[in-house]
Amino acid sequence: MSAPPPAPSLRSSVARLWPLLRPHRRRLGAGAACVVVYVACWPLLALLAGQLIPAIGAGDLGASLRVILLALLVFLTQKLAQFGQDTLLADPALRVSQGLRQQLFGRLQRLDFAALDTLSAGDLTYRLTEDADRVGEVIYKTIHDTLPSALQLLAVLATMLWLDWPLALATLLLAPLVALLVAGFGARVMTAAERSQRQVSDLAGLLAEAITGLPLVRAYAAEPWLQQRFDAEVELHRQARTRTLRLLALQHPVVGFLEAVGILAVLLIGAWRIQAGQLDSQGLSSYMAALLMLIDPISHLTTNFNEFQQGQASLQRLRAIEREPVERPDRPAALPLPALRGAVQLEGIRFGYAADQPVLHNLDLAVEPGQVVALVGPSGAGKSTLFSLLLRFNQPQAGRVLLDGHDLADLRARELRQAVALVPQQSQVFSGSIAEGIRFGRPASIEQVREAARLANADGFIEALPEGYGSRLEERGRNLSGGQLQRLAIARAVLGNPAVLLLDEATSALDAEAEEAVQRGLEQAMAGRTVLVIAHRLATVQRADRIVVLEAGRIAEQGSHNQLMALGGRYRDLCRRQFIDLTP
Ligand code: ADP
Repeated sequence: MSAPPPAPSLRSSVARLWPLLRPHRRRLGAGAACVVVYVACWPLLALLAGQLIPAIGAGDLGASLRVILLALLVFLTQKLAQFGQDTLLADPALRVSQGLRQQLFGRLQRLDFAALDTLSAGDLTYRLTEDADRVGEVIYKTIHDTLPSALQLLAVLATMLWLDWPLALATLLLAPLVALLVAGFGARVMTAAERSQRQVSDLAGLLAEAITGLPLVRAYAAEPWLQQRFDAEVELHRQARTRTLRLLALQHPVVGFLEAVGILAVLLIGAWRIQAGQLDSQGLSSYMAALLMLIDPISHLTTNFNEFQQGQASLQRLRAIEREPVERPDRPAALPLPALRGAVQLEGIRFGYAADQPVLHNLDLAVEPGQVVALVGPSGAGKSTLFSLLLRFNQPQAGRVLLDGHDLADLRARELRQAVALVPQQSQVFSGSIAEGIRFGRPASIEQVREAARLANADGFIEALPEGYGSRLEERGRNLSGGQLQRLAIARAVLGNPAVLLLDEATSALDAEAEEAVQRGLEQAMAGRTVLVIAHRLATVQRADRIVVLEAGRIAEQGSHNQLMALGGRYRDLCRRQFIDLTP
């Protein structure tokens, strides 16, 4: 297992969000203009308050009305600007989380299989859903709330300095104290939030494992054990969340109390400045109004700061996916594939997942076009690994894999995988229509889909379904039988008319009728193609042109069924022990 990739730095993480925002810079610009209007209204309102309160105090109704009407106008303008800002800025922010998700999903699809092995499905799901959402929310908050709040803070502070700078300076002495407390809390909230997010990830991982493993758990009556593990995980999660919430609970009263003390202190100093004749009541009214206008942005900034810290943790977890290695790209001068005959050749192949643990040793194998080769051998012998090399999921450390004489390393992966089709052991399907399931993203007419289904002997049951090829496949194909799913997987494989078919026979036994239907589909699908099959059925090996017995990554024996049986070696033993159905 490789060491985890280093955490990307925050600055590079944030900087790389910009390309996602850039296409929306017009909207962002218009939104920013609204922000400026919105912010500029605050000092105006403070000045109007300074005129209004003395006018009301003096009982001057006419002057009061004039100021109130003006204030109404300013309020209206400000709220319109706020509406503009909120609507214009929401969309780009949401698109960032969408873009981020798309980018990362694309990356996920190209991840190196070795890297994918080390990641948990639950954890990845969490990152691409919850974490991506959180990042989107933080961006939204940052541009539609944090930024205006910061500007408001600056504008109001400037107004206060202009109104009475000594009083403003005295006020500002309190600010660093608040800021210090806020920052201290922020850091602790961040650590706590990170911990609780890690817990959710672990929880998601355990859940994913538990859901797929539920039948197994039940079969072993291991429910209490799993429940215990789950309970322990949930408890850890609660503890982590409690720590975060406690910190947040403490933060609000402390900051709130400091604000109150600050306001009272300012009032006291203001009273003193008026007594000394250096300030009038209009100035103090404006000043107090401005001071009140500071409370909102400060509280927004503190809350958002916490969220920003949480979002930062999410962003880093998302970006960590980008550090995982992806599949090796095609060579720059990769060859387009000509029409293939389907000759497969392995020359001196050496391969291991870890450098010091070879799985295949100096393997040589030549398969003629149209030949059927059955691979047999004990589990762990390297049969699936061989398939992974033929699909270029892995690259040999020494030697070459050739297709019609072309080194696979020189071909384009996409074309190679159209020419070499895999029928996996587990007939996995995606939800969608049957036709879609057979097409599997490739452009093919419905006629071609039908033809593939016919070859796979799947046309009969598909046409008998109420909606034929338009019938829906449910998740994991639960509405089809095992044999039907296998035939669907065969149809999917032959759709692109591959020259080489890699079959990994299912180990679970079907009933005789289903078995026969699958066998017929396989036979039709195999005709005219080179086939390598990891065989688990006697019928398959008996029909193969050649049987290759793999043992610990080496070819132990090869020949026809009768030859190998007569030899009385490994193959004979294997036959006795391994094949599901011993009747041909
Ligand atoms: P077979 O298909 O014959 O059962 P495999 O090709 O699956 O054998 O496995 C051959 C060896 O490679 C085994 O020792 C197995 O543990 C190891 N192996 C298979 N897949 C991986 C993987 N993704 N990472 C590390 N080791 C693997």
